[in-house]
Amino acid sequence: MPVGVEGPTLTLLWIALVLLACSGGRESGRSDAGARRARDEFRQNPVVRPCLALPLAAVAPCLGRGARSLIVAMFAAALLCGCAPLPPKGATKASWQPSPNFDQRRPNLVIIHHTGDDTLEQALRTLSSPERKVSAHYLIGRDGRIVQLVDESDRAWHAGKSWWAGFTDINSVSLGIELDNNGREPFADAQIDSLLELLADIRQRHHVPPANFIGHADVAPARKDDPSRFFPWQRLAAQGFGLWCDTTPPPAPIGFDLAAALAALGYDPRTPEASLKAFRLHFVRADRPLSAEEENAVASCLLQKKLSPSQ
Ligand SMILES: [Zn+2]
Repeated sequence: MPVGVEGPTLTLLWIALVLLACSGGRESGRSDAGARRARDEFRQNPVVRPCLALPLAAVAPCLGRGARSLIVAMFAAALLCGCAPLPPKGATKASWQPSPNFDQRRPNLVIIHHTGDDTLEQALRTLSSPERKVSAHYLIGRDGRIVQLVDESDRAWHAGKSWWAGFTDINSVSLGIELDNNGREPFADAQIDSLLELLADIRQRHHVPPANFIGHADVAPARKDDPSRFFPWQRLAAQGFGLWCDTTPPPAPIGFDLAAALAALGYDPRTPEASLKAFRLHFVRADRPLSAEEENAVASCLLQKKLSPSQ
């Protein structure tokens, strides 16, 4: 540290150093392996390490006239960047014995949406607005452009009040993907091509089972109807993203209970009519209404695929 550095200058320098050190652990929005590894390492270390590693020894000789302001600034900057030691989160009566054996929680569901907007810019404004309080991990434009808005390890606000297979906090276990589409138009080929590439990448990294690629309407059937009937679920299923059965599978077993089958697939049993509507939106694409027997057959086929060991 140069001799003669004044207290305020030293204070500003220290704050800059603290913020610089802490920024190493605050990378966001990047999905490459290097960034994730760096972030994991940062999170697995004691939270104060980057701050304590700063050259306190180097600045100590300079403590003098500006010492008081320096100390205040040290604590303020540490608090600002989140490097101050925090009490562990969890059960209030548990003792704390840190283990090195952990990593980040992984999403196990992928929820697909359409934005309902007419342009990508309009959707970006909505998904970034502090007032709207909605977001998604990814937004895909009609031209295939992919924009990431939330880190995959963070909880985006895309599903809202929801249910799937008994889970009620879908945002905590899922990735949300919004498609720029107003709900009254077919999805662009370039957009679906990009979606398939993104899904393959997500599946490879997070090992999401085929049955766990679903739509917003599936998890919130009483409130939502996206993605619309134009969404190509069959094309996705052909590549292992979601389930699919033709409209003429073998008949369901005698005594087949459609409502119970839908609940077993994951649909909310508390709203049976809405769940049936969502099931039809997703899985029935015939150009005529299906008979009860045909619907039972489709549901039975889907359930068998979901429970198949190969899925
Ligand atoms: Zn949605």
